Amino acid sequence: MKAELEQLIALQNADTSIRKLKSEIEAIPKRRAEIEKEFDQRAFEIRELERVRDEARQERARLETEVSEQRTRAERADRNLMSSKKQDEYTAAIREADAARKHISQLETQILEKMEAFEQAESKLKEREPEMTRLRAEMTERIREFEDQARVQQEHLEANQRERERLLATLPKNMSTLYKRISARIRDGIAVAEARNGSCTACFMALRPQVMAEVRRGDDVITCDNCNRILYYVPKEAREKAPAKAAPNAVAH
Ligand SMILES: [Zn+2]
Repeated sequence: MKAELEQLIALQNADTSIRKLKSEIEAIPKRRAEIEKEFDQRAFEIRELERVRDEARQERARLETEVSEQRTRAERADRNLMSSKKQDEYTAAIREADAARKHISQLETQILEKMEAFEQAESKLKEREPEMTRLRAEMTERIREFEDQARVQQEHLEANQRERERLLATLPKNMSTLYKRISARIRDGIAVAEARNGSCTACFMALRPQVMAEVRRGDDVITCDNCNRILYYVPKEAREKAPAKAAPNAVAH
């Protein structure tokens, strides 16, 4: 019986770890997004400069397209001017050519402004390049560490799941059934609880002295009258020697 109780405790430890690891693994995308957001905020000024630079480049391209449209317009007006046979056609063509050239000159001024804005942003970005490089390296490193950690969690989860299967297969059928029934019914999934100082450590209910004595003997599977969990007892000397091993709630990984 003692050995079986130990297996039940080990099973509980595995299940507790599985629960904890599953919730940690579930939170991975959120935690990863948080890291990325943190770096995003730190890179805010740099991103703003990049935005200004890119906008200036796009604006310049747009203005250049407009210039070429106006050149076509001016050339067409010039042709009309050459072929005009009447005074009003001639006047209209001159006006059109003038308007187009005036517009081109305005656009060229704007293009110069955009070029200047582009160069300013570009030179500021160059100044901050070492900072950007450092930030990127830091972020890559953090993500890499995070992924390593996530991989280890996944490995631990799989190891605990294998251990769980192994324990369930070695336990007597009635014990594994009892364990599964209790852990499925109880919200926190803890089916095995330590009886300490005359109480159940899961529901804090005082145990009858006779129950406590039976748990202490460990000859039978004893369950808590109140919460129905399987009770076990850790002698004081054993607890002092290896406190973590005895408590299913305190699982290290
Ligand atoms: Zn209890």
